[in-house]
Amino acid sequence: MAGRVSGSRGSKRTSTAVNTLDTYFPELNNNNDKEKQANQETTEKRRKVDRSSAKFLPEWKACFPWLEYDQDSKLMSCKWCKKAGNRNSFTSPGCPYLLKDYCTKHARIGDHKAAADARVYAPAFQDVVSNAYCKEEATVKAAMTNIYYMAKKNCPNDHFSDLNWLTIMQGCDELKGLKVDAHTNYEHPNSIHSFQEAMKLVIDEKMVLELQQSEFFAVLTDEMADIAMDKTVIIYLRYLVQGTIKVRFFEVVGLDGTSADDIYNTIVSVLEGKGLKLNKMCAVATDGASVMTGKHKGVTTLLKQDNPFIIRTHCIAHRLALAAAQASHAIPYLTNLERNSTKFTITFTTQPNTNQN
Ligand SMILES: [Zn+2]
Repeated sequence: MAGRVSGSRGSKRTSTAVNTLDTYFPELNNNNDKEKQANQETTEKRRKVDRSSAKFLPEWKACFPWLEYDQDSKLMSCKWCKKAGNRNSFTSPGCPYLLKDYCTKHARIGDHKAAADARVYAPAFQDVVSNAYCKEEATVKAAMTNIYYMAKKNCPNDHFSDLNWLTIMQGCDELKGLKVDAHTNYEHPNSIHSFQEAMKLVIDEKMVLELQQSEFFAVLTDEMADIAMDKTVIIYLRYLVQGTIKVRFFEVVGLDGTSADDIYNTIVSVLEGKGLKLNKMCAVATDGASVMTGKHKGVTTLLKQDNPFIIRTHCIAHRLALAAAQASHAIPYLTNLERNSTKFTITFTTQPNTNQN
């Protein structure tokens, strides 16, 4: 503390002394300024003379391998900085002062040094990135192959990890890339969902292109509940590809409610979301439920309000199911079978799962 106080006092004294000299001998200060200005002007004049008489010497290139000289424009430039996209006096348009000192100064600036480093390390870095990308691509391909297989065979998503393990045991090391560390991997349900979404996008893209080229299309739809008892609507489309009829699964979507308005809004929103216009819809097939076929507020009635030319069809498969169920009532063996099947189903769906281990 004592030292700082003393120093502070000392600096005050010095400042006071300078102020006093300036006050009493102002010409001293003015003379100093004039002398500095004269020196600067002399240096500048000397530089101008040097610049005007300077010539580029080819041997400088031995010292500065990055140096380029353009005879026509008489400008020096740095090929490394230009390649790195740097903006400085040696890039665009170039340095007009043909002095070696300028080259030496340029070699010391930060962005030139960075360009020199990039020239050395960039190829190695590109190799590392390229290798990592190839490995990642192989891992994603192997994972997608397994997910596609599971989808085709109706396997639940929680088999993915076991299937990967089995595949690795068979020698597919690419799948090891799904494990990032001991606690992180890409076998989580969210990751599986992302892979499935990516595959769906590719399939959808092709189908939507075909649908947009088809002059008309028909909708086959039904409401249902999935295994979690969530309400959904499933949509199939029937359309033409070069004169041939195709029937393709289009979408299964969750429903907010089961009223005709809910189902109608969902179907329209899905179709329009994929760029399909209702004026190209020529037919719709549903089951015989009143929510679908109701004369005043049914889904098909609402669709006909948008396009009066739509043909409504009570799905033949549903009609066959109804006919078969009613016909079976006259056959005691089938009635008995249906009763026992129903009991069997209720027994197993209401029991707790004892197969956890
Ligand atoms: Zn440079």
